Parts: sequence; structure tokens; C-alpha cells
Amino acid sequence: MTKLYRRLRTTAGATLVASAALGSTGLVPVPANAAPLSGAAPVDAGAGLVAQSSYVVTAVPLGLPSPPTLSNADLAMQARLAAQAELAEQRRKAAQREAARLARERREARQRARERAAREAERRALTATAIPTSAYTLTATFGMAGLWSNGHTGLDFAAPAGTPVVAARAGEVTFAGWEGAYGQKIEVTHADGTVTWYAHLSTIVVAGGPVAAGQQIGTVGSTGNSTGNHLHFEVRPGDGDPIDPYGWLVANGVQP
Ligand SMILES: [Zn+2]
Repeated sequence: MTKLYRRLRTTAGATLVASAALGSTGLVPVPANAAPLSGAAPVDAGAGLVAQSSYVVTAVPLGLPSPPTLSNADLAMQARLAAQAELAEQRRKAAQREAARLARERREARQRARERAAREAERRALTATAIPTSAYTLTATFGMAGLWSNGHTGLDFAAPAGTPVVAARAGEVTFAGWEGAYGQKIEVTHADGTVTWYAHLSTIVVAGGPVAAGQQIGTVGSTGNSTGNHLHFEVRPGDGDPIDPYGWLVANGVQP
């Protein structure tokens, strides 16, 4: 049996040797390491070719330079494939970055929406406004002349004694007690610095601390300089001079 040796190239460039049985006796170039079978040199059949059966390969020299095995077209194809693979990898990484960016944007948008909702809820809680009592008739408006030396400084809600009086807006009770002509009076200071007054109360329910809009703080009465059961309600922006409570309530979305 004649053995034919083939050189194979690995990816690392090392030369491997493999053998394969060959049944034919075609004409081939003589390998450099072939030894003649008969002891004589193989007969050259012309063009450097000899009968394959006339020699045996005895050893494969390692480390010899391999003949070039890739054509220019192969090299160009290899370069194209490498470029395509590189482009595909770049696109994959770009898609990953884009997906991460979109996920981050979605997270940030959700966070912003939560913060916005929290701020809005806080704003609503701080500015929600309530009419300060119920079952009432308006009997004196802001600036009215008559019983008051310098005009009426509040809005009067006539209501039965004991009718609940509520905080017109969230805030803190900063005064609760007797104050001359106002009788039993509560002051509530709000987040924007406005102070609301509730006067002539028969009882004080909340004498200090935080209150919510609409929370009961006292009851309607006729204490102090009063001609009948009613709530005298004042609004003082920045704890300064009083403004028309009716206009303030309407501007804040409630219609007394
Ligand atoms: Zn009044």
C-alpha cells in the first residue's frame, strides 16, 4: 500500500501530517522527502511528474515554509467576511447600548412622573381649600361699614351654635384662645404664609399643631363682640392686613 502524505495547516500555522491510502498510481510531483521504492530515483515522466507508486514518503520535515495556499480572491473573501463579522459585532454592541439607553430613559421618566405626582399631591394637599363652616348664611361681607370702626375685616357665616368650624386650608394652629372683641379665636398659619382667623367660637377643638383642610378646629358661637351665633372668618396674606375672604375662597376654587 502506498501512502500519500498531505500537509494540513492549522489555525495556529503549525504543520500537521496526515496519511491517506491511495489506490491509484497517477503522476504527481515528487515530494522533497520521498525515497524511491526500488532504491533507484523515480522515473521522471516529464514536467517534474513521476508515478506515485515509485516512491514512499519517509518523513515530513517540520518548520519548512509552507507554500501559499490562499489565492488573492480567497484573501479578499476572508477580509470581506472579517469586515462583515466586525460590522455585525459593532451593530450588536450599538443595539445593546441603545437598548440600555432606552431602558435608562424609561426608568428616569417613570421616576420623574412619580416625583411630579408627589409634588402635585403635596401642592394639592397644601392648597386644597374648604369653606370654613356649614349650614350658614352670609350676613356681613368684607369692608362693610356699620358695627366696625374701620369697616368689616372678614366674612360672617351665621350658623347655629355648635356648628363645626373647619380649617379652610392645611396648616398649623398658631393661636387658640380669647382675644377681646373676637372672643374665642383660632389662627391657622398656612404654607404660603397666609394666616386665617376663626372668631366668636363657642368651643376650641384644636388648640395647636398641624391641621388638614376641612378638619374641624372649633364650633360656631357668639363669644366676644357679637350679636348672634356666627363665624367671623379672616384671611391675612403673610400675616399682614386682611383681604376679602370671599374673593380668596372663590380664587381657590370654592364658592361660599
Ligand atoms: Zn365679622
